[in-house]
Amino acid sequence: MRVVVCVKHVPDLQSPRSLGDDGRLVRGGDDDTLNELDEDALEAGLRTAEAAGFPGEGHDVTVLTVGPAPAVEALRRGLAMGASTAVHVTDEQVAGSDAIATARVLAAAVAKLHAEQPVDLVVAGMAGLDGLTSLVPAALAEVLGWPQLTLADRITVADGVVSVRRETSTHVEELTAPAPAVLSVTDQAFRARFPNFKGIMAARKKPVTTWSLADVGLDPAAVGPDGSTTRVVEAAEHPERTGRVLVTGDAETVPALVDFLSQKGFA
Ligand SMILES: Cc1cc2nc3c(=O)[nH]c(=O)nc-3n(C[C@H](O)[C@H](O)[C@H](O)COP(=O)(O)OP(=O)(O)OC[C@H]3O[C@@H](n4cnc5c(N)ncnc54)[C@H](O)[C@@H]3O)c2cc1C
Repeated sequence: MRVVVCVKHVPDLQSPRSLGDDGRLVRGGDDDTLNELDEDALEAGLRTAEAAGFPGEGHDVTVLTVGPAPAVEALRRGLAMGASTAVHVTDEQVAGSDAIATARVLAAAVAKLHAEQPVDLVVAGMAGLDGLTSLVPAALAEVLGWPQLTLADRITVADGVVSVRRETSTHVEELTAPAPAVLSVTDQAFRARFPNFKGIMAARKKPVTTWSLADVGLDPAAVGPDGSTTRVVEAAEHPERTGRVLVTGDAETVPALVDFLSQKGFA
């Protein structure tokens, strides 16, 4: 079985973020990290491949990212978790791509991998925790012309058919599609494994392939600001929060808290 897992390198959520003069998020900071929701996607991809015999002969789990040079760190983390190979598509012309243009680059890379050795599944996370559009997996499926199944919490692949389970607040759905298919997974079902020392050491020896736009055969006009149908009109830092009351201390501050809450109408 061949599984490709799309992983994004994102600014750490706990760190301050800044915007450049063009209104876009400044990326590539020291604490940028593998998008947490993509760890769930990788876990789902690894479990599905393992059920088919991964890491045995003929099985492969590839982590794939599109991003600037530091995005290779997301791939290293994916390799330490257990992926067998990694592909980094990086090219200055990709800068300024919106979700659809990003999906075009991912699709070109998946198509190239598929031509080398057929891909059964592409797994993506629920969202990138920086952009948060949740558009990329659907756009990727559309560009590839492959079926898409969303928010899976269980995955099986047998006889060329991909089956997933999705749970809503009122019912459970079982969906199937012919492979190859693009899936996105929920953040509820696939608790990601933690890379151990052996995995981290082994990751250093695993291959990371770097491709440019030309390598994946994509016209530069399809990406970057010119290939994007959306543009950032305006962006501003979040204003400082005002009007906060910080109560510190011990049991003696409880009356002050009660007083404050009753003034606000909570009593
Ligand atoms: C006009 C415009 C200009 C932009 N310019 C830039 C720019 O210069 N540089 C920049 O980095 N961003 C830029 N962005 C943001 C960029 O388009 C988004 O980061 C990207 O489209 C993914 O969006 P998302 O986080 O909402 O992904 P979602 O759709 O929320 O992600 C869902 C899943 O798709 C997969 N995925 C998403 N992105 C990637 C990726 N890059 N590689 C691998 N898998 C992925 C992951 O599995 C992820 O969990 C720009 C956006 C706009 C609108």
